Amino acid sequence: MYANVIIEYGVKALNKTFIYRIPDELKDKIKVGMKVYVPFGTQQVLGFVIELQNSNNTGFEAKEIIKIDNTELVLNKELMDVGAYLSKITLCSLITAYQTMLPSSLKIKKQEHNYNLYDEYLVLTDKLKAMEYICKYPRRIAQIKTINNILEEGKLNKKEVSSEIFKALEENGIVSIEKVSKYRINNDNINVIKKTLTKEQESVYKSLDFKKHDTYLLYGVTGSGKTEIYIKWIEKCIRDGKTAIMLVPEIGLTTQIAKRFYESFGSDVAIFHSSLSEGEKYDEYLKILRGEVHVVVGTRSAVFVPLKNLGIIIIDEEDSSSYKQDNNPRYHARDIAIYRGKYNNIPVILGSATPTLESKARADKGVYKLLRLRNRVGNAKLPFIHVIDMESEMKKRNMIFSDFLQNKIKEKLARKEQIILLLNRRGFSTYITCSNCGYTYKCHNCDITLTYHKTTNNLVCHYCGYKKIKDNVCPKCHEESLNYYGLGTEKLEEKIKEMFPSARVIRMDQDTTRNKGMHERIIGDFKKYKYDILLGTQMISKGLDFPKVTLVGVINADASLNIPDYRSSEVTYSLLSQVAGRAGRSDMPGEVVIQTFNPNHYVIECVKENNYDKFYLQEMNFRKNLKYPPYYYLISIKVIGKIYEKTIENSQKVKKYLVDNLNKDTIILGPTTAAVFKFNNEYRMQIIIKYKFDDKLMDTLRDIDNIFASNKDNYLEIDFNPLRI
Ligand code: ADP
Ligand code: ZN
Repeated sequence: MYANVIIEYGVKALNKTFIYRIPDELKDKIKVGMKVYVPFGTQQVLGFVIELQNSNNTGFEAKEIIKIDNTELVLNKELMDVGAYLSKITLCSLITAYQTMLPSSLKIKKQEHNYNLYDEYLVLTDKLKAMEYICKYPRRIAQIKTINNILEEGKLNKKEVSSEIFKALEENGIVSIEKVSKYRINNDNINVIKKTLTKEQESVYKSLDFKKHDTYLLYGVTGSGKTEIYIKWIEKCIRDGKTAIMLVPEIGLTTQIAKRFYESFGSDVAIFHSSLSEGEKYDEYLKILRGEVHVVVGTRSAVFVPLKNLGIIIIDEEDSSSYKQDNNPRYHARDIAIYRGKYNNIPVILGSATPTLESKARADKGVYKLLRLRNRVGNAKLPFIHVIDMESEMKKRNMIFSDFLQNKIKEKLARKEQIILLLNRRGFSTYITCSNCGYTYKCHNCDITLTYHKTTNNLVCHYCGYKKIKDNVCPKCHEESLNYYGLGTEKLEEKIKEMFPSARVIRMDQDTTRNKGMHERIIGDFKKYKYDILLGTQMISKGLDFPKVTLVGVINADASLNIPDYRSSEVTYSLLSQVAGRAGRSDMPGEVVIQTFNPNHYVIECVKENNYDKFYLQEMNFRKNLKYPPYYYLISIKVIGKIYEKTIENSQKVKKYLVDNLNKDTIILGPTTAAVFKFNNEYRMQIIIKYKFDDKLMDTLRDIDNIFASNKDNYLEIDFNPLRI
């Protein structure tokens, strides 16, 4: 017997398998999808078995497989196919695809580490021998007590026995250690909370056909009780003996949603998100492999979990950009979910209060099935939205807070209600400039201004992470004339404390949630009313459910509106509507204050009227005129390299190759400098492809990608359906 094995190998273009002979003792054990050790050159490397065959017809003598790495880990047929699909749609190598699908503890890597966690128990090696021992040494009272305890209980946790006693008993051959594997995350104590669906929820619940594949867009206003319906659908799947994947956006949200799932499903749930430790992820993955859970709740990569007998896949907040991976392979979880949905012939649900234009357009065309929730649950009403023109406030020298927002905050504080403030920029000042010579701090590696972080007195590049301590004088002219511009969350927090000294304030952004468990802590404390004001970046805009929040303030709605990107209106509409949706989710009515320099912009107007449909029509019109998605597909190709001239030259070559090989009606724009031209000391030129249909596209891109795989100056980054260009 022989096995075709794919191994991790430096060069990207090397997407081929190697044949190995299976030694007799492994013949019955080796399966497709297993990780094995094989000799490669002078080394021992890990690879995946991707095919078994009876003969070796390569003409070369095959070496032998050394051993199986982990008998429990097998990529099943479905996941092998998912990997092939992932590799096809993103042009990544097969091995990269398989690696992407596994938690990093199970990826192939040079250093091995045992993630299994055990409890150690003492058991008796031989009962008779133990009895003899008791008779022989009647005075060893402590040891005899321990033996009796083990006799009674069957086994004893090693922690409960002193090390001297253990040693004595072990040396006499009376006891030995039994390892019992255990998981890091356990949710045995649950109080099941059952809710009866409202009429509107019930009718959506019933419109799902579990017997065949369809993609459904569940478009329901914020607070309309989508999560409750997800839970009911999943309950049904479990009743039918099936399993469910529920995807949630990165950061913050997972913990709140996971809690609701634990309440409903207890230890039947495994969770996956980036703030779990490697060991925790490993354990959760094992639970799934062993078939011990029916439900998986997790962020993007949870779409690859090896649940068997899938019954439903749900993507909550489908418009979240965290579903697209922003490094290689640049896949979107939605595409993988739909692939698995078709594979298993099961429904896939995309839920959102502000669907992406692509999804809404597909629903309108009947490609997806549209499910709608128009009302909030119970007595909750959508909040009233005030738009404040900051231009006139500036004249009053109100740089951060308008009079109106200030008064609203005071009013809510006095009524002991809670407030959420959104400012989508972290740090203290977004740039520092010298008023004497005009010098502005920029990153050494990127063409980006450095953001000042006061807590650490650092200037930080938000792109590459470069950091330096701030100087007291201008590094160029040595005058004490450095000025701070732009507002970040750190400065906002300071200002709030100044203006509302009695208010208890907590900040949630990347900087305050770096440590494990901080998301949960902040969300939990705010929910328990340990704070009056929660301020933060877009991290606080989605999914959070705080009944006492009656005011949401948006400090600067223009920050995301002014980003030069075709999706900035969509992103802003979604951000503002979502954060507005945090207000008034219970009986207390909510209000929203949006501060902007563009009060008449259609995005702001549509948000104010809570009119997604109007926004959708206007934005679709704009996309159509400018040939953007969903009317055209987009591909971004970046040509990246350390040498400026080579990068320019090669980007022109790529352009020419595309023009020569693609269909005539495919639009090829550029090369132009990328939005961040210099990043991490590398120059980046960008070419944009817009197309509706091009049968030559994939072959052409694969060819050009292969050509550049061995180019010494430049490499390509190909992004299908980029979320940003
Ligand atoms: P969405 O996900 O659509 O924003 P949620 O599922 O978070 O909405 O529901 C909003 C609030 O309404 C939550 O506090 C939830 O517990 C509550 N809720 C949802 N459905 C019901 C119901 N049928 N009965 C009572 N409360 C409900
Ligand atoms: Zn940088």
